[in-house]
Amino acid sequence: MLSALLWLLVFIGGSMALAYQRVPLFLASAAYLLLLVAYTLAGTGPYWLMLLFWLVFLGLAIPINIPTIRRHYISRPLLDIFREIMPEMSETEAAALEAGTVWWDGELFSGRPNWQRLLNTPAPAISAEEQAFLDNEVEELCGMLDEWKITHEWCDLPPEAWDYLKKKGFFAMIIPKRYGGREFSALANSEVLTKITTRSPTCSSIVAVPNSLGPAELLLHYGTEEQKNHYLPRLASGVDVPCFALTGPTAGSDAAAIPDTGVVCKGMWEGKEVIGMRLNWNKRYITLAPVATVLGLAFRLLDPDHLIGQVDDYGITCALIPPHLPGVSIGRRHFPLNLPFQNGPTQGKDVFVPLDFIIGGTKMAGHGWRMLMECLGAGRAISLPSNTTGGARLGVYTTGAYARVRKQFRLPIARFDGIDEVLGRMGGTLYAMEAVRTMTAGAIDQGEAPAVCAAISKCHVTEMSRHVANDAMDVHGGKGIQLGPRNYLGRGYQSVPIAITVEGANILTRNLMIYGQGAIRCHPFVLKEMRAAANDDHAAALDEFDKALFGHIGLAISNAASSLVLALTNANFTRVPVTGPTERYYQQINRFSASFVLASDAAMLTLGGALKKKEKLSARLGDMLSYMYIASAVLKRYEDQNRPAEDLPLVEWACRDALYRLQEQMHVFLRNFPNKPVAAVLRFLIFPRGRMYSAPSDELGHEVAELISTPGPSRARLTRNTYTSDKSSPVGMFAEALELAVRLEPVERRIREAEKAGHLKASQGAAQVQAAEEAKVISAQEARELLRLEELTAEIVAVDDFDSSELGTHPFKTTASA
Ligand SMILES: Cc1cc2nc3c(=O)[nH]c(=O)nc-3n(C[C@H](O)[C@H](O)[C@H](O)COP(=O)(O)OP(=O)(O)OC[C@H]3O[C@@H](n4cnc5c(N)ncnc54)[C@H](O)[C@@H]3O)c2cc1C
Repeated sequence: MLSALLWLLVFIGGSMALAYQRVPLFLASAAYLLLLVAYTLAGTGPYWLMLLFWLVFLGLAIPINIPTIRRHYISRPLLDIFREIMPEMSETEAAALEAGTVWWDGELFSGRPNWQRLLNTPAPAISAEEQAFLDNEVEELCGMLDEWKITHEWCDLPPEAWDYLKKKGFFAMIIPKRYGGREFSALANSEVLTKITTRSPTCSSIVAVPNSLGPAELLLHYGTEEQKNHYLPRLASGVDVPCFALTGPTAGSDAAAIPDTGVVCKGMWEGKEVIGMRLNWNKRYITLAPVATVLGLAFRLLDPDHLIGQVDDYGITCALIPPHLPGVSIGRRHFPLNLPFQNGPTQGKDVFVPLDFIIGGTKMAGHGWRMLMECLGAGRAISLPSNTTGGARLGVYTTGAYARVRKQFRLPIARFDGIDEVLGRMGGTLYAMEAVRTMTAGAIDQGEAPAVCAAISKCHVTEMSRHVANDAMDVHGGKGIQLGPRNYLGRGYQSVPIAITVEGANILTRNLMIYGQGAIRCHPFVLKEMRAAANDDHAAALDEFDKALFGHIGLAISNAASSLVLALTNANFTRVPVTGPTERYYQQINRFSASFVLASDAAMLTLGGALKKKEKLSARLGDMLSYMYIASAVLKRYEDQNRPAEDLPLVEWACRDALYRLQEQMHVFLRNFPNKPVAAVLRFLIFPRGRMYSAPSDELGHEVAELISTPGPSRARLTRNTYTSDKSSPVGMFAEALELAVRLEPVERRIREAEKAGHLKASQGAAQVQAAEEAKVISAQEARELLRLEELTAEIVAVDDFDSSELGTHPFKTTASA
């Protein structure tokens, strides 16, 4: 009996090893055959078990290794079932699925990421020319911007800032040089936006739009030569200001449902009768619309009289409309959360334009949605992740320093454990945001259009910014709340929901896009299975499906084995290309990747098309993918920056946080998985030793808090490109104040000890410094520096107050102000 048990263990161990090593089906069958022969020859019995093993082996090995039997009896019936459970897919969903490329997201979806692929991707970097633009033009622009006046007094940028933006090519970062543009890399575009946000979130919103999805990008990819030659130089020089109008009152997230139409008809254009379109639209929320001179418009193109072909409804089409035409209403403004970047509605009533106003000409009629999806794949990774990282960067730069200069209970507030915890969280989160932003922009610069990575970046970086903004406000207390010229946080805090909502509102992006698109696009086999199922050539469909299906089954078995082995060994022995303090994070991502793909396959297999509607489940799967992406980005950043040892706490905090969240999402996913027996098997394969991964420790958080609240290379690296040149603003005072605060801490301690010992009377401020100097507790130089710190702190901590008449546009005459 004992030897039979041993053989059973050999079979189980052998199966695990073959699956873990991803041995091809044929070789695995041969290995089993040898094992069975050995077992039979050993003659250890019992014979019924031997017989059972042979029956199971032959029952499986023969059909799956003989292609004709396999196709006929396994793949064909499964293809029929697959066709039944495959989710219905609209044309617009299909276009979204085909858009863009698969990059690191595909590796994470393999269950065994090829780290070398990521590490071999060149470190994202900007050119000398781009750096000079940041150091000169962006710096000069920031000097022109006064966010309080912009948001409260003028409700617009000053005219000289508009001129400067146009003249210096801020609106032309993505336009090639041959058209007069700047032709910047994605990373440079992003760096420009982050820096501007540290000075003025209003201005960075304005700059982001022409460099994101809009007329320039659409023209570059799809425009006719004539359109490019006409518009691109005008857009590059700022002669034209673009906007792009997709959203309307009834079509927000469901943008493909726009009711706006263009009906093909004959009409008069410049004195001649031509075939054109009669457009009617009602759009809202359109950034730059009130000042636009080129209106990019999305609408459904209808041709009821078949003037251009035999199709009645071409579908979504994009055109460029001059806003001065009769019937166009434009110019009124919305007021997005007190950030007065130009944003407003536009309507069109029976506006007639020729057909060649369609971007790309008549041949692109009906291709609008695909064009938008293809371009969004890259743009989504830049504008909002950059603007929000800029906001978080300013938050960390100021909050780290503020916590050292602001004292309560006679101590810098950074010394309180509660604040220390928040500072740690802020620093680690910003590191992760920077890592995701730069890695994704870097991938775009390498020629990728990673649609899923862009959606992860948009959704998670903006979400992380919300947490950093909240934390910054909490640490600042009333100082963050009282608006006015001295408040450097309030407007950024107000702007967070804008970033959360635009370019794909986060709830939708998290619930539908990241996993919905990821599961199909990035999975090594699902898209192949779907394409096979949709193939009308039955023989070819069966052939393709068979290959994909057996690849898929092999992958699922391998991931099940990997998940169990890696969980049992706590991922200790999985090979990764890096040694040292970050090695374990690579290993843990390997483990979670196998578990994630296993869970994902189980969800797709048991729920089929219904998974699409189970958004809570699919969102959690999306989160798992996103957290692996975030942790990978953190590791990549650390390598790209040549492993600065002093940044390790930031790296470890960000990785631990992401992987802990991943583990917890997996736990909640399994708890809510509708098929309980499958959930139980999954839990055994994924958490055989329970949930062993811990969140960042308090000690690690403290190390991060110290890094961001102390002058040094880590703080400088993390908050570089923050605009600090305005020395009259608190932001411009922090560098000196923080340096003094840290250096004078021992001096202040000496004063407190002298007070305790009774050598000095307890007092505060200048009186205390003077008394300490007189009592020779501190030197004259130390006294001078302490007084300077007092002066700076008073300026930094100060808030604004106003006469009632300065606050409202039409204030009541109250008793107080009368
Ligand atoms: C300041 C600002 C600037 C903008 N600029 C432009 C611009 O220049 N051009 C342009 O065309 N548009 C622009 N927009 C529009 C923007 O893209 C839309 O606001 C956004 O797509 C969401 O649409 P909505 O506001 O109508 O929200 P809704 O679509 O009504 O969504 C409301 C909520 O429901 C959620 N939701 C919707 N569907 C689902 C689902 N299936 N599953 C889960 N959750 C779902 C959303 O995530 C959101 O949380 C801008 C918007 C703002 C606020």
